[in-house]
Amino acid sequence: MKNAPGTSGLILEEPLLWEKGKKGRNGMSVPQSDVPSAPLPEELTGEAVNFPDLSEVDVVRHYTRLSQWNYGVDTGMYPLGSCTMKYNPKINEKQAASPAIGMAHPLLDEQHCQGTLQLIHDLERYLAAITGMDAVSTQPAAGAHGELAGMLIMSAYHDFKKSKRNKIIIPDTAHGTNPASAALCGLKPVGVKSGKRGILEVEDVARLMDDETAGIMMTNPNTLGLFEENIKEIAALVHEKGGLVYADGANMNAIMGIVDLKRCGVDILHLNLHKTFSTPHGGGGPGAGPVCVVEELEKFLPAPRVVHDGGRYRLDTDQPHSIGRIHGFFGNFGVLVRAYSYIMSMGAENLKKASQYAVLNACYLKVCIKGSLHLAYNRPCMHEVVFSDKLQQEYKVSTLDIAKRLMDCGYHPPTVYFPLVVSGAIMIEPTESECLEDLDCFVEVIKNIATEARENPELLKNSPQRFKVKRLDETRAARNPRLRG
Ligand SMILES: *Cc1c(COP(=O)(O)O)cnc(C)c1O
Repeated sequence: MKNAPGTSGLILEEPLLWEKGKKGRNGMSVPQSDVPSAPLPEELTGEAVNFPDLSEVDVVRHYTRLSQWNYGVDTGMYPLGSCTMKYNPKINEKQAASPAIGMAHPLLDEQHCQGTLQLIHDLERYLAAITGMDAVSTQPAAGAHGELAGMLIMSAYHDFKKSKRNKIIIPDTAHGTNPASAALCGLKPVGVKSGKRGILEVEDVARLMDDETAGIMMTNPNTLGLFEENIKEIAALVHEKGGLVYADGANMNAIMGIVDLKRCGVDILHLNLHKTFSTPHGGGGPGAGPVCVVEELEKFLPAPRVVHDGGRYRLDTDQPHSIGRIHGFFGNFGVLVRAYSYIMSMGAENLKKASQYAVLNACYLKVCIKGSLHLAYNRPCMHEVVFSDKLQQEYKVSTLDIAKRLMDCGYHPPTVYFPLVVSGAIMIEPTESECLEDLDCFVEVIKNIATEARENPELLKNSPQRFKVKRLDETRAARNPRLRG
């Protein structure tokens, strides 16, 4: 493995700032005071305010060292399936931080924020064009929040039609947030198993769809990284029984500008701008989960809507059928700016290309790795591919051991043990950002780990070796967290 990034082990120990500080050290110098001195109020002195005294270099090294304990998409490959941890071009960060945008106050009146309103208005149009849907609201703050908005829209539609429906069909390949969002709207999730090919079969949905069912919530591509090929037939039968089709579009990275979801029969869709459209989301920061609908459902979208009339942009609150406001002001505006900048800087053709590369990269890994790890579904995959530890079981090596060994080789582990439909799942998503050489290196590392599993299983069981902390007792860590030191 001459090319593997590996780890050198040069990760320095770092105490807490309080352990490091020494009375009298100082990180700054201030000019001589030319006013009389006065004592600080009591509450700002003494034991209660126990700030450590540190020099400038103490502080710089402390935070630099802590930053080096971390691994992110700017450090190396992050093959985390179902979550699209892709590299986000820095230009989009720069745009979001530009003073004209970063300093815009959400309470400015319309006349003074025409540019920000136009940005939201145009972004909605672009997202509609990319997905094939008719109308969009950027208010929801996350994927699950977009699902909630979508489910509220589905309920509002059935209420409007005076049709009483209390169930919703959700496949076993759905993201865990789907049944939770449906349940919050009073819809009882009814599970449906995906078929042998890892996708939904028409008959299985037909058996469940009735006139008490509000519709279906599908993820396409689904969480196995497979395209739901029967989506059109399924949508037709759901529509025939008066239901609506919700698609979870958090995995849009595979199909941007390629699949027209409206033509697939989708009525409501949410996107994760913080997965597909250039907002980093590893640290749990702000996100955006725009909800997109077909024309018939536009009147139910969250209010206010940004409209353009008489040559001006304005917020329209006169939306009598709307599900109402679901976020303060305009949603997470900074995330919208990054998405807008990403779409504008890529252009239609390159967005399509990004998806094509994302799929090509996943298919390449599928073909190269399938002899080393068991491939769960030997079919064309989309942006991610699911393997398992089936081939390693005879050496008593598990998915967890493989993931931990990958860390010693310099990679963030992929998603493991998800989706639940594959026992011991190892779900890999390279994204479009990795070049051929880096993919080849990853393949080499996996092949090597498969050999180690055969020849030296103990090594894998005791991985990671090169880290500050070795194999953790994950159950104890969760039940008895030690949060200091
Ligand atoms: C990530 C994800 C979600 C949830 O998105 P959040 O922004 O974390 O709420 C929903 N569905 C799918 C398929 C996802 O991958």
